[in-house]
Amino acid sequence: MYFDGDIDYLFFLAFLLSYDILIIGGFMKENYFHFKKKFGQNFLKDQTIPRKIVEAANIQNDSLVIEIGPGAGALTKELSKVAKQVICYEIDTSLEDILDRELLGLDNVRVIYDDFLKRDVKQDLCSYEYHYLYVVANLPYYITTPIITRLIESDLGVDKVVVMIQKEVADRFCAKPGTREYGSITVFLNYYFDLKKEFLVSRNCFVPKPNVDSVVISLNKKKEQLSVNNKELFFQLVKDSFRFKRKTIRNNLKGYCLEKIEAVLNEYHLDLNVRAEDLSLEIFVRISNNLG
Ligand code: SAM
Repeated sequence: MYFDGDIDYLFFLAFLLSYDILIIGGFMKENYFHFKKKFGQNFLKDQTIPRKIVEAANIQNDSLVIEIGPGAGALTKELSKVAKQVICYEIDTSLEDILDRELLGLDNVRVIYDDFLKRDVKQDLCSYEYHYLYVVANLPYYITTPIITRLIESDLGVDKVVVMIQKEVADRFCAKPGTREYGSITVFLNYYFDLKKEFLVSRNCFVPKPNVDSVVISLNKKKEQLSVNNKELFFQLVKDSFRFKRKTIRNNLKGYCLEKIEAVLNEYHLDLNVRAEDLSLEIFVRISNNLG
């Protein structure tokens, strides 16, 4: 039997035991749970942050929401209040009893116990009817980029993504040209989405407490994407441009037709000595279209 006053001590103890037995806030009296570091399990302690995340998502009627990693269901419960349907992917089958209990009576929620990265999500969505598709999640940080990349590449037709991610990663995703954080992932995401940092979340809001702070970001599908002639070439070009961050475009893109690249750069009063971090999405698109 544990009492409220014991919670901090238990959290501290569990932290010392590094992810061993932990008892989680709201349902601590019923659930003993072994947190698994390998699954990036840092659960939100209370309902304040899940409510704020759902508010930021501004979910419309007639929507299907995908949640990756429901954990103990803190965010899922809030999503079920506003979405028509919620479909969750949870890799850890040992959460099944907890989720059954926490989500009891929420008829619009379905949990699939599987690895999101290996799942044919498009197939899962076939049986649903909806107008808007959202992805809302507190992501497992060890696979943030693979998850976002997969969301894009599986061509699910996602309208909006609202996810909590590590602060440093949010800085990279939302970076502006000319900054240290700006990289190929920034250009890739900005091609598809308008990105916005919504709010910061302290590491103290999680159990166990991670070593980093977090940020909730939103990615809104672009109403009009820039027109790219050859997407494969475009993404390869962007990747190659950033291969060695301190090197110039001339050095990173030796294998490409430098005359064609220079012609575009000159239009922007730049030359081949520029670095990739100084080039906007628009310039990358123009270069790629000039190449093929
Ligand atoms: N949503 C919960 C919350 O906010 O309290 C838990 C978030 S926790 C950061 C990440 C969750 O993702 C964990 O429940 C973990 O087991 C799950 N997870 C990790 N890798 C996964 C994968 N490849 N597919 C599906 N779920 C995964």
